[in-house]
Amino acid sequence: MAVKYEFIKECKQSGARLGRVHTPHGIIDTPTFMPVGTQATVKTMSPEELKDMDAHIILSNTYHLFLRPGHGIVKQAGGLHKFMNWDRPILTDSGGFQVFSLSEMRKITEEGVHFRSHLNGDKLFISPEVAMEIQNALGSDIMMAFDECPPYPAEYEYVKQSTERTSRWAERCLAAHARPQDQALFAIVQGGMHKDLRIQSAKDLTSMDFPGYAIGGLSVGEPKHLMYEVLDYTVPELPADKPRYLMGVGSPDALLEGSIRGIDMFDCVLPTRIARNGTTMTSSGRLVIKNAKFTEDFGPLDPNCSCYTCRNYSRAYIRHLLKADETFGIRLTTYHNLHFLLQLMRDVRQAIMEDRLLDFRDSFFEAYGLNDNDKGF
Ligand SMILES: [Zn+2]
Repeated sequence: MAVKYEFIKECKQSGARLGRVHTPHGIIDTPTFMPVGTQATVKTMSPEELKDMDAHIILSNTYHLFLRPGHGIVKQAGGLHKFMNWDRPILTDSGGFQVFSLSEMRKITEEGVHFRSHLNGDKLFISPEVAMEIQNALGSDIMMAFDECPPYPAEYEYVKQSTERTSRWAERCLAAHARPQDQALFAIVQGGMHKDLRIQSAKDLTSMDFPGYAIGGLSVGEPKHLMYEVLDYTVPELPADKPRYLMGVGSPDALLEGSIRGIDMFDCVLPTRIARNGTTMTSSGRLVIKNAKFTEDFGPLDPNCSCYTCRNYSRAYIRHLLKADETFGIRLTTYHNLHFLLQLMRDVRQAIMEDRLLDFRDSFFEAYGLNDNDKGF
């Protein structure tokens, strides 16, 4: 089996779990955050910088690489690891989420999804078999089954039909997967905000014995307390000896609450996206560096951060770069935000080790200025 989950210990205070995911390209300490490299690059960061901040795994998007440059080119290059010069683990999504969120004129059939490219309008088609062919060509360590992510809110009957189709598609993905010996295929539990559908989805998928399970269809606009409720009844349905991945979640509060509920892996474009418009996450909360009050502030972005940005540059300098549209400013805020979340997850792992994750969460929330679950990042 390409991927193996090693359980280390459970936090006696919170129930969170500490573990390791073994992959063909190295070990991932969990719970972990995965920076997103949509187009085979984490925007503005080199692989060396990602290693320097100790990212264990990155995510890349099947839909984007399928459109451009095409998986044939990546395969010719020797796979995605070689193409982008990243020798640590890579997870690729299935393309499903982007087909549903980015493309136009999509038509869902039992066979797959017809859609138009958001780049040039070309007519394209992705099915479970095509999603496997693309990801087998990319050569990621962890691939995702092709699923449909229903919108929120959605009618119960629609979510039911969609969730059942996602289970049928998962079975087709398993059958079409050509490299199970060196690529692990994870299934995605759907079911919207409906308990019976979530549990049915988890039962259908776990009966097929995938090497890992994701929870999809969350962080799609629902209130956070609803997301935590879904986790509360879905996670216990997943096997304890396989990794659990909560898709598209990356705000500090959700990383903490997700870890407490037994999640091992998270990804989100949030830290890199907000960095590009000058919003940073710091130990005392969000900081919008372009604000005039930082014009003469020669201290670091976050005095409690040890990252490259905070060790070498001031708020005033970063503000100046961003105001002047200098790319280096975006590199500095991106570096810091990613480092901040990776450090948060190192702290989470340490707190699990010492059975004090609830205490850690409470003091983090207080310093960050969060006092209820719906405040967002
Ligand atoms: Zn920093």
